[in-house]
Amino acid sequence: MRRAVAATALALALAGCGSNVPAQPVDSSSSVTVPEPPGVAGSPAPTTSTNAPDAHCDATASLRPSGPLPAPGQMPDGSTMARIVQRGRLIAGVDQNTYPMGFRDPVTGEVEGFDIDMLHAVSDALFGDPNRIQFKAITSADRIPALQQGQVDVVARTFTIDCARAQQVGFSTVYFSAGQRVLVDSDSAVRDVGDLSGKKVCATKGSTSLEALTEVASKPDLVSVDNWTDCLVLMQQGQADATSTDDTILAGLAAQDPYTKVVGPRFADEPYGLAVPKTDSDFVRFINAVLEKIRADGTWTADYKHWLGDRLGPVPAPPAPRYVD
Ligand code: GLU
Repeated sequence: MRRAVAATALALALAGCGSNVPAQPVDSSSSVTVPEPPGVAGSPAPTTSTNAPDAHCDATASLRPSGPLPAPGQMPDGSTMARIVQRGRLIAGVDQNTYPMGFRDPVTGEVEGFDIDMLHAVSDALFGDPNRIQFKAITSADRIPALQQGQVDVVARTFTIDCARAQQVGFSTVYFSAGQRVLVDSDSAVRDVGDLSGKKVCATKGSTSLEALTEVASKPDLVSVDNWTDCLVLMQQGQADATSTDDTILAGLAAQDPYTKVVGPRFADEPYGLAVPKTDSDFVRFINAVLEKIRADGTWTADYKHWLGDRLGPVPAPPAPRYVD
């Protein structure tokens, strides 16, 4: 008996859809073509050339705050923040499947997690109320189109800052330093990414994880899905041998299924940023001021301890902000 049924049931509950997992094989011998995300008709496919070297790009350096935060509700005239305050709620693209970063608690029905706490801080700075947020559940592949089409004000969704993406959206400073690793069944002989030759490895469409896997020397057979919990279900069904993505996400999958383990060192850096439409540079500066505040006042560390504890090792200091100007 490979695993307990209970683990599958929990993963299905958190996935929010217990029916068919829309797995698609990916040809790892050539570059990945990510299909257009469902529900975002007419949008360009997101760029995924994450690890492409770009000597001129310093994507994790963001725009400096323009000064102290304005009082909640008192945003500068004509600013992106004033428009959001006028509307009365922040519209945020989030993950509702990925414990502990962004997920819907199956008991309370609330969307929660580390990424979600970053949004509560932004909402608090805008409105003086951490809960003026309308959540829109989006997949990895939906992130750039949702911002480019103005469907959301901000995306907080394990979103790695890279040069290709930074040409399409505006990123905050780094609020989390994740890294890509490998999840396998607990009885697997796989020790790291180098042992994945001939293995079926799962990642989401539109993720840097999938892109990085096309470049690893072991050349695994890739399977792509919409949500990270779909990968766990595929492993539970014996349709995938491994999942490879950020250590944050893998820690959450491992917590949901005791018959899995995370192996090997990080083989790609995944610095997360909050993202806004490319034109909203005033909102990038505002968000960076919010991040300065929560790094300094202990909120970031409390959020980290609450959601990640020591799962990824000792609690780190918040990532230091870097600015371009
Ligand atoms: N951090 C990676 C990315 O931005 C993987 C996480 C995800 O897709 O949700 O693509």
